Amino acid sequence: MRHIAIVGSGPAGYYTAEAAVKKWGENARIDVFDRLPVPFGLIRTGVAPDHQSIKAVARRYEKTAVGDTVRFAGNVTVGKDISIAELRELYDAVVLATGAPSDRPLNIEGAETKNVVGSAAFVGWYNGHPEFAALDPDLSGRHAVVIGMGNVALDVARILSKTEAEFAGSDIVAHALAALQASKIETVTILGRRGPHQIMMTPKELGELLHLERASPRVDPADLPPVEDDAILEPGLRKSVTLLREFAAIPESIHGEKPLALNFDFFANPNAIVSEGGKVTAIEVERTTVEAGRAVGTGEVYRLPADLVVTCIGYQTNTIEGVPFEERAGRFANDDGRILPGLYCVGWAKRGPSGTIGTNRPDGYAVIDLVDQDFASSSRKRGREGFDELAEARGLDVVSFRDWQKIEEAEIAAAREGAPREKFVDVESMIAARSG
Ligand code: NAP
Repeated sequence: MRHIAIVGSGPAGYYTAEAAVKKWGENARIDVFDRLPVPFGLIRTGVAPDHQSIKAVARRYEKTAVGDTVRFAGNVTVGKDISIAELRELYDAVVLATGAPSDRPLNIEGAETKNVVGSAAFVGWYNGHPEFAALDPDLSGRHAVVIGMGNVALDVARILSKTEAEFAGSDIVAHALAALQASKIETVTILGRRGPHQIMMTPKELGELLHLERASPRVDPADLPPVEDDAILEPGLRKSVTLLREFAAIPESIHGEKPLALNFDFFANPNAIVSEGGKVTAIEVERTTVEAGRAVGTGEVYRLPADLVVTCIGYQTNTIEGVPFEERAGRFANDDGRILPGLYCVGWAKRGPSGTIGTNRPDGYAVIDLVDQDFASSSRKRGREGFDELAEARGLDVVSFRDWQKIEEAEIAAAREGAPREKFVDVESMIAARSG
């Protein structure tokens, strides 16, 4: 028997569990821990609420989760309720699939000002992550600035632009829907420190901006390189840049029909947050040029009005006591998934925040191959039996997959018309819903 602990129940965690079941079948016991009482990590709290088709992958994780081989142990924080040393003592292999749940800081003057928020917090707010549900961003101003040119920036800009009707069928949480309905935002500016050829946005996501009811995307044609320069781009990026060219060709008459302007501001590096009375009023930006792929300041500085700033500049993994960490990269120090004997990492905790949900699948299979290579032939570990004793001795309130199914039933029952669910946004309500 092999005893495997997976820490984190998002895509990386469940693909790893799936790989372990494929490899060892009945000869393994796999416990999937999560600090929340609810599973699926980014699928629940990261993927945008209006992207339900992406969220449907959770059905695949459910197939792995039911049965005795894989067990969900929610509401257990590794590093607090149980240490890494204890887990390593109990299990043959501990795989950290904890993702990258914290914002990379925007290290500029004024970054701590009120209504300057990171995407982990902002996305967590509209997706009902208990850590961020109370964020309560102020949407009463006219101008929002979104920093970064990746898919998260697109998610945030799109969510800020949509009408109530456009959220039909989504699982955006009620508090966010109400706040967005009352929003007074008229411009959303997406700020990139480099140019159109350096965006990280993918075509499908970028193309959605063409179909928004009350917003239309604006690109200054002067920011676009000559069209023949696109030939050197890889096909995905070339498609994205072609969409930017489409945006640049939208006539003023069409923009005029839509009350919200979605501006792309390229070659714009944030310099400082400007505030009044402790609240953000503008962002100071330095014009850049791109030399050998790098943004270089030109010395030209200007101010953009900003009542809300959302930084979408990447994420980092949370540290856990006893696990070596690579500060600069913001992830666990690892050699292609190996951290220490019996301790591994996978997904964003291993490689940083890049790629799609599907990228985690080969990652999960690869880490299980490593565990298989490293595994001594017979295990003397106690696995989940040992964990259960420890949990009881500590009075941990462990949430099972069956409990989660009851929580989910309650969320489905509470859904507004047409929505798949209304999420509980705090841990206490989740736990209370378990008893039906
Ligand atoms: P990302 O794709 O790495 O984009 C981060 C952006 O932030 C880049 O444009 C980067 O510019 C910019 N940036 C970084 N530091 C900055 C700074 N100090 N000042 C100004 N700009 C800065 O990251 P992400 O958008 O957080 O997305 C994470 C991953 O999740 C990606 O793989 C993404 O594709 C994926 N995702 C996918 C979907 C989807 O498929 N629907 C949705 C959301 C997220 P530089 O390039 O100049 O560094």
